[in-house]
Amino acid sequence: MISVNGIMWTEDRRWSHPELKMALMNRRFFMPAAIASGLVPGWLLAAARPERVQVLRGDTLTRISRRHGLSVTELRLWNGLTSDLIQVGQEIWLKPRYTQIPLAKITQPRIKAGRWKNIIAHHSATPNGSAAIFDEYHRVAQGREHGLAYHFVIGNGTNSPDGKVEVGGRWLKQANGGHVRSAEYNSCSIGICLVGNFEKTQPTTKQIKSLIELSDYLKHRMFRGRLKFFVHKELEKTLCPGRHFPLTRFHQLFS
Ligand SMILES: [Zn+2]
Repeated sequence: MISVNGIMWTEDRRWSHPELKMALMNRRFFMPAAIASGLVPGWLLAAARPERVQVLRGDTLTRISRRHGLSVTELRLWNGLTSDLIQVGQEIWLKPRYTQIPLAKITQPRIKAGRWKNIIAHHSATPNGSAAIFDEYHRVAQGREHGLAYHFVIGNGTNSPDGKVEVGGRWLKQANGGHVRSAEYNSCSIGICLVGNFEKTQPTTKQIKSLIELSDYLKHRMFRGRLKFFVHKELEKTLCPGRHFPLTRFHQLFS
């Protein structure tokens, strides 16, 4: 028996108890001790979980994760965090939202689920750019008939909005990328390019948030964890995506 807001319940009563259901819907109950002790079953915890919380004095990401039965990695992913520093009053989401990415476009084509094995992140090595600009460059200057060599481009506020995820024609057609030299990797790897030269400057906070959200969606939602995350220089001899790309943090999130 567990007491929730003064209501006693047992396993067999569960959702049939209208007052308990109401208490859960109103999100009035809060039982950190019971949660920590494992007394509260997962389904109850998930049903009672608010969609977001505000950071209180003394909170850490670890404490918030434990209180709500989530992992720290989930909180990092769903809040686009590459560091565990949080501030009093900050809003922390307790579920994925995918509001930074154009979901309708990403899910629109008939996804060839079996073929994609990797995500490979790049920088453009240029201070500015956008999907349209790189498309023209790849088509005209480099003579590639399929144009834009990446599947996705994430803007830095120069020629497209900061953090905006643009979907390339190769993703819509589920076509091979042209973003690495290896034909084998091009045939099974989703190429994501962040606009900027990260040998010289940092990616913007919005670009990083969008890359986390896009990679989380692709890896965990669309491909059920099957994709591996790499950056270009881990596979071929290149500086891409530059020394300012937060590689260690991304491997903590996606390895
Ligand atoms: Zn690259």
